[in-house]
Amino acid sequence: MQLVKDLEQWQRLRSELDKALGFVPTMGALHEGHLSLLRRSVAENELTVLSIFVNATQFNNQADLQSYPTSIEDDLKLAQSVGVDLVLMPDYVQMYPDNFRFQMHEEIFSQDLCGSDRSGHFTGVLTVVLKLLNLVQPEKAYFGLKDYQQYLLIKDMCAGLFLPTQIIGCETLRENDGLAMSSRNRRLDGVARDVAGSFNGILYHSNSDEDAISALQALGCNVAYIKTLYGRRFGAVEIESQGDTVRLIDNLVPENLK
Ligand code: AMP
Repeated sequence: MQLVKDLEQWQRLRSELDKALGFVPTMGALHEGHLSLLRRSVAENELTVLSIFVNATQFNNQADLQSYPTSIEDDLKLAQSVGVDLVLMPDYVQMYPDNFRFQMHEEIFSQDLCGSDRSGHFTGVLTVVLKLLNLVQPEKAYFGLKDYQQYLLIKDMCAGLFLPTQIIGCETLRENDGLAMSSRNRRLDGVARDVAGSFNGILYHSNSDEDAISALQALGCNVAYIKTLYGRRFGAVEIESQGDTVRLIDNLVPENLK
């Protein structure tokens, strides 16, 4: 496995590769959810590229960015263990030589759900994904359906801009109690972890979005949104843990729509 931090070196290396690449972009702090995407890419492509880049432009809250977990040494060991071939790990200056003068903005769906209370979030996401797809030029790129809104926006961006990469959505991996795996789960302590473990069940069993909001508020969660769209129920909550606010998102087909 080769680690590349310098983008000039990356572009030289990429121009010499004539194999079909599978690509998994991440912000690191890898867990089984990320590994499921990587395993699928390794199985379906000649070479797999993992990127690790905590993308500052998609964080509207500096405290959330500062406390985002990192575990580079473990990440590299995990990547190697599942058969990743290349790891791309640029820094901010490398990724944003334009200092974010050029932005990829979507006008409609990016303003809903996570875009409604995280202003500019999807502009940061789409801009960095577009840059990464240009750098990696993969045949296939893998995204988790845990971030369903992100997956749809990226898929539509690729279609709208005639990008050749196939965007593949992968099922959400969950803990035993159903909590969607997330790098942010590392910041949850005992009680907050128990509350977080109820989130998916409440999304699933509630008969309406309003019922889900009431049940989550009764547990002490700050509800950013709960909304049923396209036959799925989407939710985002904030949970206090160790003096910190942890934001969790999830989405699923609720019981009453099955
Ligand atoms: P992140 O590092 O959080 O930006 O995630 C990188 C990729 O992994 C995204 O496509 C996520 O949707 C995906 N991902 C994160 N958590 C999970 C999970 N629990 N199951 C499946 N995919 C996931």
